[in-house]
Amino acid sequence: MNILGIETSCDETSLSLIKDGEKILNQQTSSSLRYHRKYGGVVPEIASRMHLEVIGFLFEVLWKQSGLTPKDINLVAVTTGPGLLGSLLVGVCFAKAISYALDVSLVGVNHLHGHLYAVFLGEERKKIKFPFIGLVVSGGHTCLFYVRDFLEPYLLGSTLDDACGEVLDKVARVLNLGYPGGPIIERLARKGNPKGIHFNPIKTKNPLDFSFSGVKTAVLYYLKQRGYKIDSLSKSIKVPLGLIRDICASFQEVVFDSLIEKSLLACKLKKVDTVVVGGGVAINNRLREKFFISAKKEKIKVYFSPPQLCLDNASMIAGLGYILFKFGKRDSFTLKIHTD
Ligand code: AMP
Ligand code: MG
Repeated sequence: MNILGIETSCDETSLSLIKDGEKILNQQTSSSLRYHRKYGGVVPEIASRMHLEVIGFLFEVLWKQSGLTPKDINLVAVTTGPGLLGSLLVGVCFAKAISYALDVSLVGVNHLHGHLYAVFLGEERKKIKFPFIGLVVSGGHTCLFYVRDFLEPYLLGSTLDDACGEVLDKVARVLNLGYPGGPIIERLARKGNPKGIHFNPIKTKNPLDFSFSGVKTAVLYYLKQRGYKIDSLSKSIKVPLGLIRDICASFQEVVFDSLIEKSLLACKLKKVDTVVVGGGVAINNRLREKFFISAKKEKIKVYFSPPQLCLDNASMIAGLGYILFKFGKRDSFTLKIHTD
């Protein structure tokens, strides 16, 4: 069975062809990231306009590169949310049109569940046992799920303020490092001291919720107390490289400690021994390394999404769409989007 996946929830326009929910035949992704760079974050209007501009072109490239034709599709799977309203609409309208034109079934897919399914497109897929704790760490979300099956992952906790990717991006902006902040902070943190500066982790009422905005403010105050002037876009801030490295390492550490600690706590509370991690921040090697060490001590197994499938992509949507279809899910042309 060939599934066409469509993902346009944020700044990546991605189309993918997958065979039987497992084998990626071809994937075409275009990101509008470079247009958002000067604003230090995704601008929704720019993102939706770029989806419109490239989606038809990517569709053509997909067939050229895969050697298949649209007639070979048996199912269309599309992200319905959460995400940006205008962006989601482009993907869902496109999916409806293809499904109608080719007279094939349509399945709406939750983007966050898709990030967890990405782990099942990796080499370790056969080792993963249900139920597991799913951690989604991306630019827009930080969520913990209890996953008995992919039909209804149960949300255990999420961020009360910034998402973990968002907070990395925002701190990078304060330090005038560039966008997106996650990979830049990872690189600078490698030569910094993770214990160099103490930033307090934030406690939440539900221990499985997250909160990161306090740590972001702590970085801001740390700089202000040392006499660094921070304007709204910090265009002029000049912090010595050594100090930047220590801030990046210490700040990244406290964010990752919270992700790991809460995931392992969720395992304990739900009595499961497996964690599955997906989303853009899951690319981070420090996060992976720390997670494996802490989980091993608790006899918990951790599986990460393959690095090339951590960022938004349509293969995870096509793959999960196939699973949902097998469970009997079908959607009509009244399929709606949801922004959260
Ligand atoms: P997504 O929302 O899943 O598309 O992921 C985008 C987010 O992932 C952004 O907030 C990035 O800063 C973050 N990100 C990308 N690469 C890394 C990395 N190497 N380390 C930490 N965060 C990253
Ligand atoms: Mg993205």
